Amino acid sequence: MSFSLDQLLRENIKNMKPYSSARDEYKGHEGVFLDANENSLGSVIKKAVNRYPDPLQWDIKKKLAPIKQVDSSQIFLGNGSDEPIDLLIRAFCNPGKDRVLILPPTYGMYEVSANLNDVKIDEAPLTTDFDINVMGVMNKITPDTKIIFVCSPNNPTGNIVSRDKIRHLLKMFQGIVVVDEAYIDFSKEPSFITELSQYPNLVVLQTFSKAWGLAALRLGVAYASKEIIGVLNKIKPPYNINQLTQEAALEALNNVELKNSMVEKLLSERSFIIDQFKKLNYILKIYPTDSNFVLIKVPNGKALYDYLVMNKIITRDRSKVLLCDGCVRITVGTHEENCMLLQAMIKYQN
Ligand SMILES: *Cc1c(COP(=O)(O)O)cnc(C)c1O
Repeated sequence: MSFSLDQLLRENIKNMKPYSSARDEYKGHEGVFLDANENSLGSVIKKAVNRYPDPLQWDIKKKLAPIKQVDSSQIFLGNGSDEPIDLLIRAFCNPGKDRVLILPPTYGMYEVSANLNDVKIDEAPLTTDFDINVMGVMNKITPDTKIIFVCSPNNPTGNIVSRDKIRHLLKMFQGIVVVDEAYIDFSKEPSFITELSQYPNLVVLQTFSKAWGLAALRLGVAYASKEIIGVLNKIKPPYNINQLTQEAALEALNNVELKNSMVEKLLSERSFIIDQFKKLNYILKIYPTDSNFVLIKVPNGKALYDYLVMNKIITRDRSKVLLCDGCVRITVGTHEENCMLLQAMIKYQN
């Protein structure tokens, strides 16, 4: 396949001049700063946040790059992963004309973002074991299809999808293939980041919201070629990552071992609840998971969900989702929370 970023980009995006902020125009750290109309006296809270933050978050990228073994120029930081999802659609899809392809059952934001941008959505459902149906995907690609969203490990099913099938799409499709790896830290499989040098049309999404335990910060990451990252930087809101989030992310990146040990703990809790689930004979199926959640199938998913809510345990009823008949998605909790869940679920059986 031949991939041309220039051809793929929307004409208006290619031609536009990005907003140039005060911080873009003078990058030094020393001097008397009278360029950005900030309050020079300070902040009305104890923490000084009166200065605009680094628009390109270089300190974080410099720390993240060696961890992920990419160049800093291959990293984009977003206000949650939802921001790069939206920016990718805006960069490559002409409203009212172009299309994106999703592989349901999958994460809901691809569809929401496409709808918001008046971009048509085509669907190529996963197989019954929640893997990519390659022929199904190829049949749904049109000349107007600009982005395929693949979620791996997939939400809400939990499983990693076939690496070779993703590679096949990357080779055959002339548009962008987004591989959303929000849950990759919980998987034994390597990230697709390792394949960036081979596929100029690959974008890998990760997030600080799951394994890192920083959902409230709203920090998502896109990894891609420096050309694609350049496009995202060109169209992003100027100061999209606030100062407090940047500082917390730097602190987090000094604590990779703590993240890893939390992942280990959650994985052992995941094994624990799966072993206990196996003893409940009303559970028809426990789906394989590479994530910090487990999808189970029961005769009546809504009934189990409602019962658990009555017991003040909130799960996610996915029983109305394509291919997820009777399914409930359960996040791995603390040991105490998992015991409460299991106690309630044992009673449900009786
Ligand atoms: C949770 C999740 C995200 C993370 O979204 P943020 O905006 O970074 O919090 C992204 N993709 C999938 C599939 C998710 O489940």
